[in-house]
Amino acid sequence: MLALPSERAIALIDGNNFYVSCERVFNPKLIGQPLVILSNNDGCIVSRSQEARDLGIPMGMPFFKAKHFIQSHGLQWLSSNYTLYGDMSARMMHVLAEFSPDQEIYSIDECFLDLSHMMTNQALISYGKTIKERIDQYLGLPTCVGIGPSKTLAKLANHIAKKNPQFEGVFAWSTLPAHEQLHWLQRIAVGEVWGVGRRINASLEQMGINTVADLAQANPEMMRRRFSVVMARTVTELQGISCLAMSDIEDTPDKQQIISSKSFGQEVTHLQHLQEAVASYICRAAEKLRAQNSVCQYVSVFVRTNPFAQNQTQYRNQITIPLSIATSDSRRLIKAAFFGLERIYQPGLRYKKAGVILSDISPAAQQQEDLFTKIDQKKSAQVMQTMDQLNHLYGANTLTLAGTGATLGNVRNWRMRANHKSQCFTTRWDEIPLVRS
Ligand SMILES: [Mg+2]
Repeated sequence: MLALPSERAIALIDGNNFYVSCERVFNPKLIGQPLVILSNNDGCIVSRSQEARDLGIPMGMPFFKAKHFIQSHGLQWLSSNYTLYGDMSARMMHVLAEFSPDQEIYSIDECFLDLSHMMTNQALISYGKTIKERIDQYLGLPTCVGIGPSKTLAKLANHIAKKNPQFEGVFAWSTLPAHEQLHWLQRIAVGEVWGVGRRINASLEQMGINTVADLAQANPEMMRRRFSVVMARTVTELQGISCLAMSDIEDTPDKQQIISSKSFGQEVTHLQHLQEAVASYICRAAEKLRAQNSVCQYVSVFVRTNPFAQNQTQYRNQITIPLSIATSDSRRLIKAAFFGLERIYQPGLRYKKAGVILSDISPAAQQQEDLFTKIDQKKSAQVMQTMDQLNHLYGANTLTLAGTGATLGNVRNWRMRANHKSQCFTTRWDEIPLVRS
């Protein structure tokens, strides 16, 4: 029988229906309503309230197919407001960072916290509840907390916490006896496992591996030969042995956001050095973006000082920059990232970490022409393709961009194609919420 070891405790905190929840914080009339948030150009549904899910509206559905629910069920809809979501995300991550010295931001609404050696197994549940309550109290955002001995099991724990109201949003593997752990693993389809995409799912099912328990009981070495080292790691992680470190850079397929960040070997004070770091993270993230044939609509940049150097001035900040048109061109992404970095950079501080997040990712094929942006997209794609090919042939960073001296040009006129967007409640003085009494 499978018994999960419990030396490590890794928590995954994940916002529930994150974009919808951000909107509801500032517009409580939307609470209890079926509500959907649309992708850029108001094309597809990217976030749904529970009430919208209950209508049977699937994730990613083109909006025109759901429009009849406006009449029949009072469906509410909004264009996506990534400035708001990015800022709420930064605030949420800031609050969560207080709960562990080791935080890894995984996506706009998810982060891992390493809670190992911080408390007994039983205390984990109440700690998880405190985390959840704090985010609710400070930000009004609903979350779920999953805790497990590996990241993969923490992800699954979060899934269980979300789907099973009896746990009140917090689930920890280590609080269950072995037979109950197995019972849960047997009840979850293997497709729910982190990193198991549709194609792998099909191959697994052919092998008779249908549930998470089936996969956890597989032989990692056999799975490595049959699939890849990534799959072998997943199996080992499901057996409760942590092999994905709380690392700075994560690499999993089919991501909604691509994050690239790193702690600096030495603290950095100059803007130029931060720019160099940010430019190299963008290059790496953009290469991943192009490898999956996608483009992104938003670039976020974050910086922070060293939280362990308590005698130094502490600072952390994040900013999200919308692009006038979605792109995967490293040069345009760097330009936007520098624009953001200049706004959050404060001189005189010692920075320990910086990173970038590419979000609102869509297939490059869906990209819409923008009459007002004179960018030769074909040429841009060719330049980037050549760069990727050379780097593939001769090794990473053979050809990269001279990001450091780049000047910032006309990146100010963000033209948003979103005709039903909420205000930037938290980032613009002229759009701050009004209270009438
Ligand atoms: Mg979420």
